Amino acid sequence: VLELRGLRKSFGDQEVLRGIDLAVHRHEVICVIGASGSGKSTLLKTVNLLEGIDDGQVLLQGEDISDPRVDVDATRARIGVVFQQFNLFPHMSVLDNVTLASRKVHRASRPEAEAIARRLLDRIGLGEFAGAFPDRLSGGQQQRVAIVRAVASDPELLLLDEVTSALDPQLVGEVLDLVTELKQQGSTILMTTHEMHFARNVADRIVFLHRGEVVEQGTPAAVLDTPQHPALQAFLARVH
Ligand code: ATP
Ligand code: MG
Repeated sequence: VLELRGLRKSFGDQEVLRGIDLAVHRHEVICVIGASGSGKSTLLKTVNLLEGIDDGQVLLQGEDISDPRVDVDATRARIGVVFQQFNLFPHMSVLDNVTLASRKVHRASRPEAEAIARRLLDRIGLGEFAGAFPDRLSGGQQQRVAIVRAVASDPELLLLDEVTSALDPQLVGEVLDLVTELKQQGSTILMTTHEMHFARNVADRIVFLHRGEVVEQGTPAAVLDTPQHPALQAFLARVH
């Protein structure tokens, strides 16, 4: 679905991504781990075209979306994104939040979009909140709505950046359970997380980013139990 080739990105004279090569295959869940400042969020932003790149290519279904001639809005509509916080529009009801992309970008009719949104909200147990504003919901509920909104228009790829790190510990599980459910339904997900248990249980592959480079990747067991690179060993010693 996604292929990154030799991706480079600097802010001023600081090189944040230093030649990233990474492929995400259909139905794969990839967890990107790494220390704060290693470039995880920047990596996801380049995929969503929120950050331009200095060198390399971002291929979505084989199409180079880093090409300046590409239609940014149309490309973003193919990718679902959820960040750490502030994902929902506070002045819109939960239902309007979820249907927004389908109505605006995909030009679905309102009844059509609302039927899909209500089904999704029911499935995560939040159907009764359809008419409420986001501030009525807990942080965990808001993130679940944000994730449901991101998948409502059936994106080719889902990007999740630390979607649980702003949450109280008791709310983390319900959000990660939803991500697990999406994986079971076949979503393709590239995500960053500090939740190592989750990464171990749900990721098909874990990618360790160190100072803007992928220095190690593999199955959860390989990366977490038999780390090879000293930086990964040090990172795991810190987070465990
Ligand atoms: P964290 O785990 O804390 O979220 P991260 O791995 O997501 O960290 P990034 O947010 O990608 O790290 O940042 C990588 C580096 O790039 C950091 O040194 C950060 O200060 C820098 N950086 C990120 N965005 C910008 C920006 N818009 N302008 C300047 N520097 C930036
Ligand atoms: Mg980050």
